[in-house]
Formats: sequence, structure tokens, C-alpha cells
Amino acid sequence: MWGRPTSAAGVAAFDTTTPMDGGNPARMVFVMHAECTFLPRELASLHALGMGLKDEWALAPYGIDDATDAFYERHLTPKDYLWLSADNLNALVWGLHDWAHFHNHGAFEERAMTELQCDVSALVWLTLNKEAIGIDDADIERVILEMKEISKGRFEGEGKPFTAPYFDRAEIDRLLGYASPA
Ligand SMILES: [Zn+2]
Repeated sequence: MWGRPTSAAGVAAFDTTTPMDGGNPARMVFVMHAECTFLPRELASLHALGMGLKDEWALAPYGIDDATDAFYERHLTPKDYLWLSADNLNALVWGLHDWAHFHNHGAFEERAMTELQCDVSALVWLTLNKEAIGIDDADIERVILEMKEISKGRFEGEGKPFTAPYFDRAEIDRLLGYASPA
């Protein structure tokens, strides 16, 4: 589940212009809706502005890998504990990436390859839900291109060739099953 602030006029306030960056996304946090003291936590209101949150807890931003391990070890489903608060496109994409990350448990040895799977999952979800999010095809194209650069940088950092074909709208549509078979 994803939440975003509502403006005074009752309209969803969501910034679709933020560029994708590879760092800790601003104004993105996983808010806890069930007791999960086994996870590192911080006050949600520190990271989710304008959401009317008061004393709710959130997964500490540094705790994504901890949560991945903890959910796996305890056989828990992330959606039973967390919802995503994100008020801008960069934050939403990284939230979706992290959501996929929670489900990709294993030895984190091939970082670029593992992150690639999270990126592609995020891009598919983003495209699938574009109307609900309120973004258009141009926004999606931009996100795909910017995520491609980040992914490419990870592979280069590991000295590996970057051959992933997935950072392409047609390829994302193919994964969605929208495009007709060739
Ligand atoms: Zn990841």
C-alpha cells in the first residue's frame, strides 16, 4: 500500500519531476502498521511530511537489508507490517525498488545483478500503475533512462559488462504482457 499527502484543496500532492538519484531518497519511508520491534525504527514523521503522522514508527532508512533478512527468517510478509509513504516520483520508484528488495533474499554477492532485479520490478509496477499514480508515458520514459544510468554505473563499478536490455519501454511492456508476441 502506498500513501501520499493531500493538499489543502484535497488534491493528491505528488511531485512527478524529481530526478532519480542513487542515494537515500528524500521523503520516502516505510511506515509500520503492525508491531515489529524486531526492525530498526525511527519516527515516521521525520521522513513523511504532510501525511498527518504523529507517533507512528517507520523502518529506519538504513534498515532495508535488515528488514529483508528479518522478514525472511521469520517467514513474514512485508505488506502485513509496512506501507510506503512517498510524495515524489524518485521516492516512489526507490520505495518500489526496496519492496522488491524485501523479496529478493539471499547472499548479496552480485550487487549490480541483484539491484537490477529490484529496478526492473519497480519499473514494471510503476508502468502497471501509471494511471493510479498520475504519471504519463513521458515520465516513465524519463525514469527508465535515469534508472538505466544508475544500473550501468553499478555494473561498471564491479568491472562487469552492462548488457541488460530491460531499461527500455518496449521491454517493460513486454514484461507486462501488454505487447503482442513477436
Ligand atoms: Zn535493492
